[in-house]
Amino acid sequence: MGIIEKMRLDGKSIFVTGGARGIGKSVATAFCEAGADVAIVDVDLATAQQTADWLKETTGADTIAISCDVTVPEQVDAMIGTFLAKYGKLDAAFCNAGICINVPAEEMSFEQWKKVIDINLTGVFLTAQAAGKVMLKQGYGSIINTASMSAHIVNVPQPQCAYNASKAGVIQLTKSLAIEWAKRGVRVNCISPGYIGTDLTLSSEQLKPLIAKWNEMAPMGRLGKPEELQAICVYLAGDASSFTTGSDIVVDGAFTCF
Ligand code: NAP
Repeated sequence: MGIIEKMRLDGKSIFVTGGARGIGKSVATAFCEAGADVAIVDVDLATAQQTADWLKETTGADTIAISCDVTVPEQVDAMIGTFLAKYGKLDAAFCNAGICINVPAEEMSFEQWKKVIDINLTGVFLTAQAAGKVMLKQGYGSIINTASMSAHIVNVPQPQCAYNASKAGVIQLTKSLAIEWAKRGVRVNCISPGYIGTDLTLSSEQLKPLIAKWNEMAPMGRLGKPEELQAICVYLAGDASSFTTGSDIVVDGAFTCF
């Protein structure tokens, strides 16, 4: 099989958490364009359904929307049940749902800390664990987790200690799962994006004034676009990346190089 064929995802079924919008939606689009069928998994079912319908219409993929809060184990199990009832197998999982709360460490409430850790780290564990159980039985599968450049550096000037800690946790979780499952056909990798223009960054009134500052600090002088994460995720999801596991792939326009 040639490399272009290996990069295709025909016949594969994949779920994407946080798939209703932002990076999740963009990567789900790429999965569909590469031939996969995709479940859009999100707490916001109405937007997830809109995204799934739009993907079906524009790419012809067999999509569904599944409501799931990734911090609730019973909902994650139910999501996997719905997914398997529809597709029968799970080839890849993009565990991507995440939030950021910008509060100085000394003012951060326990609830704010817990919310970020619950969604960004525990949510990735629960969805990757649930995907892993299915994939280990199958003997194959690829899991992609969303970390961040914030796992590598401390962003400035905005304070975000819980976010940074959660994302550093995602990288070590990814490597730990990769080691545990390496001989059983299941690969686990993560991506570490730099600043990407999505609702998370662009719609926060608090962050808007910072964008000019970030662009000034960025070697390429701009934010990344969600679609600039598509190719790496298609690569990680499919057979072209068969020897890639335990990797954290930084896609940040060189932001963390100095
Ligand atoms: P986004 O536009 O805010 O999209 C995140 C999606 O996740 C939303 O649809 C959100 O639903 C959903 N979500 C939130 N909590 C959830 C939960 N408990 N269970 C299921 N779904 C949930 O964010 P994004 O920028 O695409 O970010 C996606 C991922 O990339 C996150 O992990 C983020 O940390 C990471 N990342 C982003 C950037 C960036 O600059 N944008 C950079 C590095 C890494 P609601 O809208 O209903 O909350």
